[in-house]
This record gives sequence, structure tokens and C-alpha cells, in this order.
Amino acid sequence: MVKKLIAGNWKMNGDLGTALTLTREIVAGIDADPRLAGTCDFLLCPPFVHLARVRANLGQKNIESGSVMLGAQDCSEKDNGAVTGDISAVMLADCGVQAVILGHSERRQGHQETSELVKAKATQAHKAGLIAVICVGETETEREQGTHFKIVETQIKASLPDGANAENTVIAYEPVWAIGTGKTATPEDVRSMHKFIRETIGNMRILYGGSVKADNAADLFSTENVDGALIGGASLKSDQYLGIAKSV
Ligand code: PEP
Repeated sequence: MVKKLIAGNWKMNGDLGTALTLTREIVAGIDADPRLAGTCDFLLCPPFVHLARVRANLGQKNIESGSVMLGAQDCSEKDNGAVTGDISAVMLADCGVQAVILGHSERRQGHQETSELVKAKATQAHKAGLIAVICVGETETEREQGTHFKIVETQIKASLPDGANAENTVIAYEPVWAIGTGKTATPEDVRSMHKFIRETIGNMRILYGGSVKADNAADLFSTENVDGALIGGASLKSDQYLGIAKSV
């Protein structure tokens, strides 16, 4: 069985104490249940400023086995230089990061990030040896208009750099209308979109994101072509995050 990837996007939440408590609770939960490491890979994506301290609390065994990975929530499309406030992919790799979320809808919408920019960032991520977790998904209006497959296909084709493959790239399908809203896509919405994405990208992992919680995760994980979840709100509570993993 291919392990499910359980990715937590902590967004801009929590002080250092909160991040470390959450890390310790999650790591203790994983260590206490050996079945979890056999069924899931874990990815924790704290805010930039907490990355190094979170990494120090992941546990040597988890880091070496690769079962718990550290991720960032963005990186620059540039190598280095006069880009005030940005963080390069190489800097992330240097502080122990293994993956980076790119093209999240909150960046596509809130920071006007285009798929071309996401592609340039993913290129940097790959150069630095990071896994790019590339987010795609339609808005509510696009779904109502019936253009969701076309939108997602266009985002994927324009966001994936040359050389993207199953080792260095993960796709997260996140319908924008399901993020942080409590609305989840129906099993049929998820099944048909993940099948479509699979036909478009081949064997890369495809995560579902959008109000995933411990009580709806089992249905999602039993859906064909759902290789894991990208979790926002519920990843900030260790019992929810671990509960999602336990439903694999
Ligand atoms: C997300 O932001 O990637 C996300 C899926 O958020 P939530 O789980 O809170 O809907």
C-alpha cells in the first residue's frame, strides 16, 4: 500500500510555545502508535520563524526515517539577492526543510500569485532538493459555471516545472470554496476530480484539501486516487491531526 501523506498547514497561527507543544503532541502520538508510520507519511508546515525549532523537536528517528517531514508554506522564485522579506528555497533546505507548499489559494488570491510564478517557485524548490506541494482548485463560481476541470487542468499545466515527477512533486487539490468554510466536496466531486488529475499528471501523489477533519477523513481516504490530505484548521489540534491519520 502506498502511504498516505498527512500534511498540516499551520498558516500564520501560533507563537513558538504553541508550535512546540503541537509538535511534541503530534510526535508523541506518532511514536505511541507504530501502525501510523506504516500507513502514513507526515508533513508539518509551521510558519517560517518556527521551522528550525520545530525541526529540533521532530525526533532523530522520525527525521532519519523520513516519516515526519518539515515543510514551509512558500518560497521565493529567485535564487537570492535584493528581495526584502522573501525566503529562498536553498535557505529552507539549509534549515532542514524537505518540502514547500506553493500556490495555495490564499497566495493565489491574496497575493495575486499566478501559475507562472508558482512554476518559477517550484523550479527553485526542485533545484534546492525540496518537494513542491503545488495547490490547485476552482472557486465556487467556477464550479457553478462547470469550468472546474478546465481551471484545474490549466493551473496544473502552467504551474508544474519541467522535471516534475512523483519524487519531487505533490499536487494538492483544494476547491477554494471548501477551504476553512466547513464545506467539504462530495465523495463524487473528489472522486471525479482526482481521477481527472491522475489522468493529467500520472503517478504523483494527489492530496485533497478543504475542511478535512477526523470525522470525514475515512471517507476521503477510501476514495480512489486520494493519496493523503492537506489540512488547515484541523492540523492545529493534535487530536484532530492524529485522528485524521488514524482513519487511514
Ligand atoms: C488549507 O488551507 O489548505 C485547508 C485545506 O484549510 P482547511 O483544512 O482549514 O479547510
